[in-house]
Amino acid sequence: MPVVGTAGHVDHGKSTLVQALTGRDPDRWEEEKERGLTIDLGFAWMTLPSGTTISFVDVPGHERFIKNMLAGTDGFDIALFVVAADEGWMPQSEEHLAVLDLLGIRHGVVALTKVDRVDDELVELATLDITEHLEGTGLEQAPVIPCSAVAGLGLDALQAALDAAVAAAAGTRPPGRPRLWVDRSFTISGAGTVVTGTLTGGELAVSDRVAIHPGPLEGRVRSLQSHEESRETAQPGARVAVNIVGLDRGDVGRGSMLGRVGDWVPSDRLLTAFRRARYVDSPLTNRGAYHLHLGSGAWPVRLRSAGTTPDGREIGVLHVSQPIPVQIGDRFILREVGRRAVVAGGRVLLPEVPRRSADARAAALRLLETLDAEPDQQADALVEIRGVADLGTVAAHTGGGRPTAAVIVGTAALSSSRAASLTQRATNAVAQFHRDNPLRPGMPLASLASALDVPQDTLDALLRTTPALRIDGSVVVSVGFAGGLTAAQEEQFADAARTLADAGLNVPRIRDLQLGDELLHALLRESRLVRISDDFAYLPEQIYEIRTRLADLPDPFTVAQFRDAYGVSRKYAVPLLEWLDRQNATVRRGDLRSVRT
Ligand code: GDP
Repeated sequence: MPVVGTAGHVDHGKSTLVQALTGRDPDRWEEEKERGLTIDLGFAWMTLPSGTTISFVDVPGHERFIKNMLAGTDGFDIALFVVAADEGWMPQSEEHLAVLDLLGIRHGVVALTKVDRVDDELVELATLDITEHLEGTGLEQAPVIPCSAVAGLGLDALQAALDAAVAAAAGTRPPGRPRLWVDRSFTISGAGTVVTGTLTGGELAVSDRVAIHPGPLEGRVRSLQSHEESRETAQPGARVAVNIVGLDRGDVGRGSMLGRVGDWVPSDRLLTAFRRARYVDSPLTNRGAYHLHLGSGAWPVRLRSAGTTPDGREIGVLHVSQPIPVQIGDRFILREVGRRAVVAGGRVLLPEVPRRSADARAAALRLLETLDAEPDQQADALVEIRGVADLGTVAAHTGGGRPTAAVIVGTAALSSSRAASLTQRATNAVAQFHRDNPLRPGMPLASLASALDVPQDTLDALLRTTPALRIDGSVVVSVGFAGGLTAAQEEQFADAARTLADAGLNVPRIRDLQLGDELLHALLRESRLVRISDDFAYLPEQIYEIRTRLADLPDPFTVAQFRDAYGVSRKYAVPLLEWLDRQNATVRRGDLRSVRT
C-alpha cells in the first residue's frame, strides 16, 4: 500500500486537507486514545478513483516531520506538499523540500491550499513561485493543484494527481524483510507491550519471532492491527500496531526497530554518500557535531570524510554512538547540532566500513552503482569489497542478498579473486612446508589458516575444492607429495633396524638408536617402527612374533611366566604386557592375565 507523507509549513492546512480527503482526523493520535483494543495509528487512509488505497501519515511538529519521513522511507513513496496560497513559500517549506529532496523522494503532489482566501491572480503568482522553488529538486515535476479544504475546491483534481503519482511511483520498492521503525510504544492492560509504526520491506505475521534493536531483545507477535482491524498478517506500506509478548514497555521506544530474529546485524561504522542541503555552502567538516536521523531514531555521530564521488556527493564514514540495524541503501538525514538544521542527506553504502580510508572511497564508488540494484547484486559487490564475508552478515546488510559471483565455502563467501589468491598462496605455502619438513606428512591446517589469515573452517572448505591440495586429517598435503626419507636417513634406519633385530626382544632404548626426533616420528608414522613405551620400540616383524607367541602361554598367566616364555627381563615384560593390554590383545585381572581371543 502506498504511503503518502505530508509536508509543509505549519498551519498551511495539512491536517485539514487530509481530513477533507479521508474523512478522518489524523490529529486524533495525539490524544493517544484507545477505543477498546483498537489502536489509533495516527494516520488516515482513502481509496483513490483508480481503486488504490493510500495511507496518509501526518504528524504535527517540525522535528517529528523529519523522523516521520525517515521512518517510512523505504516504504514511503509519495509526498503531499502543502503550501498555503495566502502565505506562500515559507522557511519551513524550504527545509521540508530539502529533506524530501535529500531523501530522494521523486513523486509527489503540491497542494496550494486556502485558495478561498485569495484571488485568481495570487493563485497564479503563488503557483509560479512554487514551481521556481521546486526546480532542481526531486519534486520539480510535481503538479501544483490549487484547492481549499474549507470550500471544497480542487479536491477531485488533487485525487486525480495523487492517482497519477501513485502510478508513477509503483514498483519502485524492492521486496525485502519486514522492518518497523517504532514511533510509539505503550502498554494495554492485559495485552502487554504495543508498538506502532509503518511496516516496510516485507510481511509480518502473528506468531513471528521478532527482535527489537538496539539490543536485540526478543519477543513474539501476539496480535496485529492495521486500518483499525485485527489481522493475521500485515503488509509492507501499512501502518501497523504490533502487540508483542515477552517485552517490557521500557525495553522499546521511539527509535527502536522491530525486525525478525536473525535478520539484522547491527553496526556502528557506516560508509555513506550524501549531498548537502542546498542552503549549506561548504562541505561538512569532521569537527562538526551531527545527529544521524535514520528510521525513527536519532543518534550522535562523528564524521570522517573520505572524498567525493564523480557526481558530487560527499563520501563519509559515520561513527554512530551505538550499533544500529541498517542495510545498504538506507536513507538518512544529518542535522548539525550547532546550526540546529538539516545539513545533508544520503544513503548508507556499507554498514561495516573498510579499515583504510583509501579502501573506503573505492568501496563507496563500487557500491554506489548497486544502490538501487537487487539484493543479490549488492551481495556480490559487498563480497568483492570485503574479500571474505559471512553469508548471514551479507544477507543482513543487503536485505536478504546472496552472492551469485562469489565462491561459497560453508557459511562464508569469498570473492573469486580472493578465492584464487588464497588457493595460490595455500599451494605455495604447503609446497614450501614440504620442502622444509620432508618427513612431516603435511602442513597443519591450523598453521596454514593463521599464515593466510582466514578462518580455519573457511580454508578447510576452500581447500576441499582445490585439486592441487588435499586435506588428510588435520594436515594439508600437496597432491603428488611423496615425502619419504633421504638416502642418508634410509641408511640410518637400516642400521637401527639391524641393531634391533640382533637384540632379539631385549632391544636397546630408543634414544640409544641415534635416530633423532624427526626421523623417529616419520618412522613411527609410517609404522616402520612400533613404540610400546617411552623407552622401547620394535620392528613390525618383532611385534608380529610377540603377538603370535601369545598362543603358547598358559591361561591365565603371570608376568613371570611371560618373562620366561619370551626370554626377556622384567624391564621389557611389564611395558610389553601393558602395551598388549592397551591393544586389547591381553586382559589383566589382578596379577593374572589372559589372552583375548
Ligand atoms: P497544518 O498545521 O498544516 O496541519 O494546518 P491545519 O490543517 O491545522 O490548518 C491550520 C488552519 O488553517 C486551521 O485553522 C484551518 O481551519 C485553516 N485552514 C486549513 N485549510 C484551509 C482552507 O482551505 N481554507 C481556509 N480558509 N482555511 C483553512
